[in-house]
Amino acid sequence: MTSRSFELFAAAQKRIPGGVNSPVRAFRHVGAEPFFVECARGAKIWDVDGNEYIDYIGSWGPAILGHAPKLVVDAVREAATRGLSFGIPNPLEVEMAELICAWMPSIEKARMVNSGTEATMSCIRLARGFTGRDKIIKFDGCYHGHVDALLVKTGSGALTHGRPDSAGVPQAFVDLTVSLPFNDVELVRKAFRENKNEIAAVILEPIPANAGLYFPQKNFLSILRDECTRHGALLIFDEVMTGFRIARGGAQEIYGVTPDLTALGKVIGGGLPVGAFGGRAEIMDQLSPDGPVYQAGTLSGNPLAMAAGLAQLRELERINGWKLLEQLGGQFEKFARDAIAKAKIEITFHRIGSMFCLFFARGRIVDLGGAQRSDLKMFSKFFHTCLQQGVYFAPSQFETSFISTAHTSKDIERTGAVIHKVLAEL
Ligand SMILES: *Cc1c(COP(=O)(O)O)cnc(C)c1O
Repeated sequence: MTSRSFELFAAAQKRIPGGVNSPVRAFRHVGAEPFFVECARGAKIWDVDGNEYIDYIGSWGPAILGHAPKLVVDAVREAATRGLSFGIPNPLEVEMAELICAWMPSIEKARMVNSGTEATMSCIRLARGFTGRDKIIKFDGCYHGHVDALLVKTGSGALTHGRPDSAGVPQAFVDLTVSLPFNDVELVRKAFRENKNEIAAVILEPIPANAGLYFPQKNFLSILRDECTRHGALLIFDEVMTGFRIARGGAQEIYGVTPDLTALGKVIGGGLPVGAFGGRAEIMDQLSPDGPVYQAGTLSGNPLAMAAGLAQLRELERINGWKLLEQLGGQFEKFARDAIAKAKIEITFHRIGSMFCLFFARGRIVDLGGAQRSDLKMFSKFFHTCLQQGVYFAPSQFETSFISTAHTSKDIERTGAVIHKVLAEL
């Protein structure tokens, strides 16, 4: 039964473009309409028609402790009693900046913003201001938010809706953006040669997770590091999704590669609208009011958002959440691989820690081209049948799903049984 969601979506479509405030929510990729959420707690979501789902999206990443963890809700409530926004420095901003710098040693100074998009946008402007150059190298299928210069051959919603480039992005911006296949070292070297002394920065998701999920091949990240250093360009890691999720120090800790700037978001806000960016002090000091690169935000460092993020991150550390997530992820992987081995169709399973993706395609997938070989009809069938059985995975082949610390072994076991049944019948 989804009649109440159906009514709400009809009303939404009259007053909100496409009925949604962010395109990935529209379920178009799987040929359906979204459900509307009544409430969410722990690993579960209930829709307005009373259906219950085990949720593997967690608000697209932020809900790493599950939905509405008591200590985060309490922290927000407590902060709210002291005021909602000041536009004047508050102590929580300092605590958050100190925590970010402690957990990610490549960051000597950080600034808070309100979304991942603002974080990457600010990194790009800062890199251009710092180097005095205009061009950017990015990678096909990497999504960095809806920043003009970065909406070129992008991933996530834009890719899902069949348009990896956006109307409304001036050609002049596209001309300043070189987009290359992920994991192709030779093309990176060639781009640096052909744009000598013009590249301000290379930006990437160190683990691309917005066109499905795939991984940097051996030495890819360290070669990018070397090329950037050699050519005087900055290396920007967009860890909006991976930061503080896959390890305390993010992907840069796992791969041992140090970027000049890092963009953060999602998990650091505990579910409130937050982003952050940071890096070497010498670069960050180019920001106003100290330097010439302008960047600002009325609500940046908002006390509720800082309180939520700090509570979530400290709890994650207290319970050693990364170890727990790896255990749960490992358990999930075992069930998934068993089910895949018995299925008649070809599936490639990728996982790192609490992030995973089932590609309905065979063989090695190391870039967007590989992800695009997936059988989207098959994915759609899989998605819907799982949803009917009360398991909510990302509604697109080109997204990553997430496990939270609130998922129990029993939740994972139940999900395993569902996947097993669904794949056997596909
Ligand atoms: C989600 C995401 C963004 C954009 O963050 P918003 O908060 O949606 O603006 C940027 N980069 C990556 C890697 C993301 O996953």
